[in-house]
Amino acid sequence: MLKKVKKEEKPPKNVPSRKISSKKKEPEISELKGQECPMCKQKSLTLTEAERDIPYFGKVYIFSMTCSNCKYHKSDVEVAEKQQPCKYSLEISGDNDLNARVVKSSEATVKIPHIITIEPGPGSNGYITNVEGVLNRIKGIIESTRDVEEDKEAKKKASKLLKKINRAMFGQEKIKLIIEDPTGNSIIISEKAIKSKL
Ligand SMILES: [Zn+2]
Repeated sequence: MLKKVKKEEKPPKNVPSRKISSKKKEPEISELKGQECPMCKQKSLTLTEAERDIPYFGKVYIFSMTCSNCKYHKSDVEVAEKQQPCKYSLEISGDNDLNARVVKSSEATVKIPHIITIEPGPGSNGYITNVEGVLNRIKGIIESTRDVEEDKEAKKKASKLLKKINRAMFGQEKIKLIIEDPTGNSIIISEKAIKSKL
């Protein structure tokens, strides 16, 4: 799995080397095709590693694996410098907040109090986006649970939550976005964001 590739001391031949790519200033993407997929066991998995400099945070490695056969996909982010466990909290009240950059690792819990808590799991991905991107992902999760939900009350509740998020995105309501990460590989980059210990 991805973790193994990241942490193995002797990486298998041809695995993108961090040391080589970190010497270059330009963002570099290393790609490794034809790997065995952990799901369908075909040699149709592509591993990629890229790095990005995130202002006010540092160098971030982005790992991903995608299978062209079964469409399995997994991605994660990791900060080059080891970080402390952290919690970021941002009150969303307008466009500026929606544009704030977010780095979220696969180990992070994402919360909007009174609306939803998304705990990390084996299917969690890490990604770099902005607050709007995080809210859109959360909306997607609520929408898909609403669509499969049989219970009318639960459906109604999901629709209400979606409305609430939409209103916040239009600056008509305030909601709080909280990201907690025991690995410290996550951040909400905004002057308004409150960082605290986890
Ligand atoms: Zn596959």
